[in-house]
Amino acid sequence: MRIQLRTVACDESKPHNRPMAKSPWQQRIWRAEQLAAQHPFAAEILGFYIHVARFQQDLHQQLGRASAKGGLGSLPSVPDAPELLASLPAFLSLVEEKGPARFAQVARDLRNSPPVSWSELLSRCWSTTGEPPDAPQEFLALVVLQPYAEFVRSRAGLQLDGYTYAICPFCNRKAALGVLRPQGDGARRNLVCGFCLCEWEFRRIVCAGCGQEDQAKLPVYTAEQFPHMRVECCDVCHTYIKSVDLAKNGLADPLVDELASVPLDLWAQEHGYAKLRPNLLGM
Ligand SMILES: [Zn+2]
Ligand SMILES: [Zn+2]
Repeated sequence: MRIQLRTVACDESKPHNRPMAKSPWQQRIWRAEQLAAQHPFAAEILGFYIHVARFQQDLHQQLGRASAKGGLGSLPSVPDAPELLASLPAFLSLVEEKGPARFAQVARDLRNSPPVSWSELLSRCWSTTGEPPDAPQEFLALVVLQPYAEFVRSRAGLQLDGYTYAICPFCNRKAALGVLRPQGDGARRNLVCGFCLCEWEFRRIVCAGCGQEDQAKLPVYTAEQFPHMRVECCDVCHTYIKSVDLAKNGLADPLVDELASVPLDLWAQEHGYAKLRPNLLGM
C-alpha cells in the first residue's frame, strides 16, 4: 500500500557536489539546507533546526575543550557541566527569535525565570527516561542536553555485542528512529536513540514498541515523495517509527531526513498510530 502525499520535486542527484563534512553537525546542517530547498512544507522547521544544530555544535566543542582540561567527569547521574547552564541564555534568546511560536513563548518565560529552575529542568529531563517528553520546555531542555549526552556516550566505551533490546543501551530511552544500512545483499535495521545518538542493531520484523513478531501485524508504509523513508507500524500497540533506508539514499542523514518527512507523521497519526518517541523538535 502506498500513501498519497503531495508530490514535489525530489532531486537526489549530483552526489559529487556533496561538500566535505567536517563534523556530524556540519553534515546535518548541509542536509537540512538541501531538504529545505526540496520540501517547502519542511523549510520552516528545518530552518529552525539549522539554528539548533549550530548551537549544539558550539556546545559540543565547548564540552570537548572542557573535557580536555579534565573538567568533565564520566557518566554523571545528573548533567553537571557548567557549560550547559552557561549556554542557556543565548539558546533561549535564539528560540525566542527563530523558533516556532509554541517554543518561543516558553523560551521567553524560561529566560525570565531564575537559573535554579533551569538547573532543575535540565536535571529532570536528564533523569526522565521512561516517559517521552511532552511539554515545550522539556524539548528545549533536551536540545541543550543532547550534545552532552552524545559527548558522554561517545566516551563511555559501550559494548553492544549481543544487545537485542528495543531501548537505548546507554540512556534507556525509546528509539526515535530506525536506519536501514546496506549489509551483504540486503540491509540490516538499526535503531537510533534521538538523545545520545546511540545506534544498535534490532531485528527487522519486530515491533520496537511491544515486541510483536507477527509480520501481518507490522505493516510498513512508504510514499513516493520519500522513497527512502519507511513508516513502520504496529497494529497491536498502535505505535510507529520512521526508518531511513540508506541503501536507497546514501545522501540521507537519518536525524535530518526523519525531521523533514513531516507528512509521514501526519499520515501515521491520522491513521491511529502514535510515534514511539517524538524527535527533538517535538514531532
Ligand atoms: Zn540514548
Ligand atoms: Zn507493537
